[in-house]
Parts: sequence; structure tokens; C-alpha cells
Amino acid sequence: MKVAIIGAGYTGMCIAKKLIESNINVTIFEKDSKVGGMTQNIKLKNEITDKYYRHLFQSDLDLINLAKELQIEVKWFKSKMGYYIDDNLYDWGQPIALLKFKPLSFMQKIRFGLSVVKIKTIRNWKTLERYTINEWFKKYNWEDIYNIIWKPLLRNKFGQYESSISMVWLWSKINLRQSKQGLTKETLGYIDFEQLNKKMQEYLEKSNVEFKFNTSIVEIKKKNNKFFQINTGDDIQNYDVVVSTISYLDTKELFEDFLTKIEKNQLLSTKYIGAKTMIIETPKKLSNYYWLNMADEKFPFCGIVDYHNMENVKTKNVIYISNYLETNSKTYKMDKEELLAEYLPYIKKINKDFNKDDIIEYQVINEQYAQPIIESNYSEKLLKNKLEENGLYICTLPQIYPEDRGVNYAIRSGYKLAEKIINKNK
Ligand SMILES: Cc1cc2nc3c(=O)[nH]c(=O)nc-3n(C[C@H](O)[C@H](O)[C@H](O)COP(=O)(O)OP(=O)(O)OC[C@H]3O[C@@H](n4cnc5c(N)ncnc54)[C@H](O)[C@@H]3O)c2cc1C
Repeated sequence: MKVAIIGAGYTGMCIAKKLIESNINVTIFEKDSKVGGMTQNIKLKNEITDKYYRHLFQSDLDLINLAKELQIEVKWFKSKMGYYIDDNLYDWGQPIALLKFKPLSFMQKIRFGLSVVKIKTIRNWKTLERYTINEWFKKYNWEDIYNIIWKPLLRNKFGQYESSISMVWLWSKINLRQSKQGLTKETLGYIDFEQLNKKMQEYLEKSNVEFKFNTSIVEIKKKNNKFFQINTGDDIQNYDVVVSTISYLDTKELFEDFLTKIEKNQLLSTKYIGAKTMIIETPKKLSNYYWLNMADEKFPFCGIVDYHNMENVKTKNVIYISNYLETNSKTYKMDKEELLAEYLPYIKKINKDFNKDDIIEYQVINEQYAQPIIESNYSEKLLKNKLEENGLYICTLPQIYPEDRGVNYAIRSGYKLAEKIINKNK
């Protein structure tokens, strides 16, 4: 059997890994010149760093195990989190921080604590499916907690979709990812993805996975009702199975001829929001927080991730200014100079001594399909991996449900899909 995989991110590479370990022939088509997708690195003046800030959680076992297998160290650090609202900066994320958090009254702090405990004790996420986060908090008369804490964060991350995000999304953030956090600062992990990507590619190539880089598929046809013919413009090859790991919309275009009406609608029904990330090389910290949530409506960005503050990890002189935006918005279309001019006055609100001269170099990266919008009753529109057309599969971000996107889940869903293909063809 010959399998074609579209996309050399962790989903695609992990499908390939499991298939090749079962002696199944694999070719990966990648439009870029290297592996890793969203985990690639970027070169600044003196630093090579993650294109997007990147940490892992103690519960990310598939990623931890893959790193172990490829002999890449996971470094653990205590993450200090902050919350900026109404021109004030607060500690965030631990019970002691909650006690000092002024935007909530004493009674609201108790009710906020109760809401978190309640969310953490829910085991069956299906019971939450029909609620948006907003509706769920209303149901328990915790609307003020929603309005003060969650609404500003959701508005910053999801913009106009703030009030439609499923309660399952928040449940997964609180319950799964912070399951081992306890009462102290959260422990996060850091992996050098430049090394992991290199080792992963080497492993796959040694195992005879074929990579076709800088390659876009022009057309997929079915021949003799048996195999798929993939045309890249330069080359035509036949495959028994084709797997897409790319966005819903791009998959729809490539698979158009083979999709049922229902599948087409499912591919169109999930919206995405884009990410616009500014990466600044600077010797100066903005604050003592690794992760700073911007809940202040006036701010033009939604978070700051400061690599200077990764305790115990060899730190980098790098700060990320994170933003999630509609891809047709004015800010998403700004070039890096315009964006810095927009951001700098607000960056100075966090550290008044930070000036343009402190920047050694900066870059801005746009990611069009960064975050799927997970609405209530999402199971109903969840697309199955195996499509109706025999031999066609899709495995991509919006199908990671009830969990949210993350490298760990890219790996896990890739492995699971490979098992389905292996079992189907036994
Ligand atoms: C700003 C930001 C911060 C993040 N932070 C974290 C974090 O801290 N921790 C974490 O675990 N996760 C984080 N993530 C999420 C994580 O990076 C992704 O969930 C994961 O990398 C997705 O892997 P993937 O293989 O599914 O997709 P991708 O990495 O997107 O890979 C898809 C690949 O397909 C290729 N491709 C696309 N179209 C075509 C085509 N037509 N033909 C051929 N190839 C094509 C792309 O070039 C890419 O290489 C973050 C994401 C963003 C955007």
C-alpha cells in the first residue's frame, strides 16, 4: 500500500511514523521547504527561536514520549502568569493571587473559586456541549464572573465569536491542561523544536519516508476506481490512500471532486481565526511574567510571552506579542512597522522604560488557520477522519475535540489516524 500525506507538521509526520513502522510506504507532500509547520523556528539577529511561543504541559504525554524517543530533553520551568486589566497588572493562576485580585469582590472571589472547582470536577464533557461559556456561567448565576474574568480574555482571543465559544473549550483548558497544577505556580515544559524537528525528519528519512518539499498538489484524480493519481505539475504518482492534515478550506479545494454534500458543508461550517505574532529580540524584559494575559479592552493585542522569564531554562532574549484576529481585519493586514507603531504605546504601559531602541530585531508572522472556532454542540458538525470516498482521510486542527489544538494533540491524532488506516487494510 502507498499512502500520500499532505502536510509535514506533527500531524502529518506522526501519521507517517506509525505507518512506516508498519512497513507501509509513505510520501509526504509539503508546500514549504522544511518540516514542522507551526513549530518551525525563525532567525533573528542573534537568536534562533520558535516562530510561535511554545510550551508544553505535564499532561502532554505523547509529546513528552516522542521527545524521549528521539533523545530530546524536556526542560521544566515554573511559569509566572499575570493578568492586565484596567491599567493594572495582577498575579494570576494561583489561589494566593486570587486573594489579591482587586477586580473581584471577596464574594466574587469565592464564587470564582467555586466555578473553577465545579469545572474541574466535571468528568463527562458531553454534559457541557449544549452550553456556550456565557450560557453556562449564567445557568449558575455566575454571570458577573464571566463578565469580569472570561469575557475579556475570550474577546481578545476570539473577537466577535466571544459569546459563541463552547463551554467544552473552557472545560478542556482548565481541566485537562492544568490537571497537575495544584496550589503552586504552574509547571510548564520547553523543548528545542529546532532539534526535535531535525531528529524527527532524520528518523523518518532513515525509515524511508519520502518527503516532497516545496511541492503543491495541482490535482488529485481517481484512476480505474482504485487508486489516486496525484499531479504536482512536475510529476504524477499513484497512491492507494491520501490523507490531508491541512486546513478545512484547503482540503475542500483539493478533495472537491470526492466529497459528499454533507462533508462539503462540514468543511465549510467551522470558522477559523488567524494569529498575528510579533517576535521581538531585546535584552530587556517587559515584566517578570512568563505569560501575561491582556484583558484590557483598550489593548490592541491579547498576550505577552516573555522568554526571559523561563526559570531554569537557558533563556532567550525574545518576547512574543500575541494576537488573534479575523484575517480580513485592518490589524491582520498591517506590516511590521505599522504594527509596532500601534503596539509600542501599549507595550510601554507594561514597561515604561521600554523604547524602540531596545529592539535588536523584530519580525511579524501571520498564521491564517491558527485557531478553529469551537461552538456549542460541536460534535454535531465534527467531521470524521475517514471520508466517504474510499481511501481519503482528513486529520486536522478542528477535529481535535474535546481537546484544543496543541502539538501533543497533533501527535496523538496522527497516531490514531495511522492505526485506523493500518486496521482497515489488515
Ligand atoms: C500562535 C500560536 C501559538 C501556539 N502555541 C502552542 C504552544 O505553546 N504549545 C502547543 O502545544 N501548541 C501550540 N500551538 C499549536 C500547535 O503549534 C499546533 O497545534 C500544531 O503544531 C499543529 O500541527 P499540524 O501538523 O496539525 O499543523 P501544521 O503545523 O500547520 O502543519 C501543516 C503543514 O501543512 C503544510 N501545508 C499547508 N497547506 C499545504 C498544501 N496545500 N500542500 C502541502 N503542504 C501544505 C504547512 O506548510 C505545514 O507544514 C500554537 C499555535 C499558534 C498559531
